[in-house]
Amino acid sequence: MRIVLLGAPGSGKGTQAKLLVEKYKIPQMSTGDLLRAEVAAGTDLGKKAKAAMDSGQLVTDDIVLGMIQARLAKPDAKNGFILDGFPRNIPQAQALDAMLARLGQPLQLALLVDVDTDVLMKRLTGRRTCGSCGAIYNIHFSAPKTSNKCDKCGGSLTHRSDDNEQTVGKRLAVYQQQTAPLANYYKAQGKLRTVRGVGTVSAIFKNATDIIESQIRPLADVMSKIESAAARQAAKAKAEEARVKAAAKAAKAAKAAKAAKPAPAAKPKAKPVPVAKAKPAAKKAAPKKAAPKAKPKKAAKAAPKAKAKKVK
Ligand SMILES: [Zn+2]
Repeated sequence: MRIVLLGAPGSGKGTQAKLLVEKYKIPQMSTGDLLRAEVAAGTDLGKKAKAAMDSGQLVTDDIVLGMIQARLAKPDAKNGFILDGFPRNIPQAQALDAMLARLGQPLQLALLVDVDTDVLMKRLTGRRTCGSCGAIYNIHFSAPKTSNKCDKCGGSLTHRSDDNEQTVGKRLAVYQQQTAPLANYYKAQGKLRTVRGVGTVSAIFKNATDIIESQIRPLADVMSKIESAAARQAAKAKAEEARVKAAAKAAKAAKAAKAAKPAPAAKPKAKPVPVAKAKPAAKKAAPKKAAPKAKPKKAAKAAPKAKAKKVK
């Protein structure tokens, strides 16, 4: 599955990305991580990226796309990827589409983790971190019992300076400016799906996977490899059960057929005695009324015994 994750800062998309990675065994590609890895490995792309950064310039889209392409070639990406943090604008999205088209691996889904701006504000500005143990609180959603004191260790809580309303508001506005067109871009392709990023992490994840599994049909391939070995086994068991049932039914039918044989056997008895008039009467009477319902049951018990005796 090939997915782009969209979501504002504070939307929790990073958390969801990690859970998706675990569930579907596909790598998360965040451009920051790719950049660091390439620079650390000293690849050509890494050197170019480093040169750009060292001279205070942005790493170009070409370099980023090159890194993504290189990452896609690694074996763990053969079943897909989750792109997080790229693309951020329409030209990047178009360049990404072009590259993936060349590779024959087009995006299947753009999943937007949607959270209202006022909630994002509270999430981002309400953060408090314990200076001693690192515990994280939010004064709006998970406040400590005593104001500004850590529940766990009693340490004092700090508020990051860039978590103030003005800075957060700016970040969110920039995000909105960039992402609204991006969402429309994928919507026009029929690839955009939205999951509400509010509620428990597990409930959001459940909604996300429901969307992914209904949206990405070819996913059936991947899923069958990863998860549905169990489903196949269940299907096997069901088939076996059906086979046993069918066999039992066949055995019953065979028994009934055996039981039905004595009925035609009655005809020869009837034949020799009457000559002209009784014959048609016997035919009508025997098969229609007696043979199907009444006779088989009685005969079923009698017939096998009689045969067995004959065999002996
Ligand atoms: Zn603490």
